Amino acid sequence: MNTIAVGSTLEDVLRHAALPPLEIRLLLGHALHLTRVQMITQSQRVLNEEEAGIISQLIARRHAGEPIAYLIGEREFYGLPFSVNPAVLIPRPETELLVECALERLPPQGSVLDMGTGSGAIAVAIAHTRTDARVQALDVSAKALATAQGNAARNGVRIQFLQSDWFTALDSAAGTQAFDLIVSNPPYIVDGDVHLQQGDLRFEPIDALTDHADGLSALRILCSQASPYLQTNGWLLMEHGYDQAKAVRTLLQENGFTDVQSWRDLAGIERVSGGRWTAASQT
Ligand code: GLN
Repeated sequence: MNTIAVGSTLEDVLRHAALPPLEIRLLLGHALHLTRVQMITQSQRVLNEEEAGIISQLIARRHAGEPIAYLIGEREFYGLPFSVNPAVLIPRPETELLVECALERLPPQGSVLDMGTGSGAIAVAIAHTRTDARVQALDVSAKALATAQGNAARNGVRIQFLQSDWFTALDSAAGTQAFDLIVSNPPYIVDGDVHLQQGDLRFEPIDALTDHADGLSALRILCSQASPYLQTNGWLLMEHGYDQAKAVRTLLQENGFTDVQSWRDLAGIERVSGGRWTAASQT
């Protein structure tokens, strides 16, 4: 039973057995603009017809599998609030590893390029932590860029945004855009992977999840085309799938990167790989 009857109290809704209590609290707080504390102190507040309708609908959509983050339009990443919508991937905790690897390698007043920025999570987290950095972010999707722009403003950081299909809109000829770091969480799921039909992924933008091929095509573009945009000793750092670390390290090595390595996420999975573009790479 999803329908919340008019005249129900907040307490009645919170006791609603059909969803986990945390999810009900998030939906209720979002729909009625209430904090957790207000939900407790106003537990006897009675819902009017409009409120009962809105909450019933949210519960029904959650039952149909829509991600909580899209229903409330928000997800936290790296301790910061991000607005999300179905045009962007929902930021995931394992991507914080990529941010940490980037921050460790970012020199003072350094520059970073985030490729396929989506909600802007990576770029905004870096810019927020390192206000001295020059951060640029690109995405092929105009809707994603608008979302990322909003998130930069919301978190008070300055980022230069560019609409680009990977490297196509960047100008390498003048050599003016060489970065200390290039970071990316590209689409890396293999075409037809069963996970695409499960959980949150069913509602997320398919082009942000899969390359519609072997899962490595975006990673191949990054490894083979990044070097003109990297400073000498600059790093290329990429998130990838649980079983792709070895393949990505090989791609980095084949393309002349040195210090090639992978890092494990909190689940112990090799989740980020990267390499450095050195003088030796260029010989
Ligand atoms: N980490 C996501 C998942 O497996 C995929 C993100 C991506 O393709 N970049 O659910």
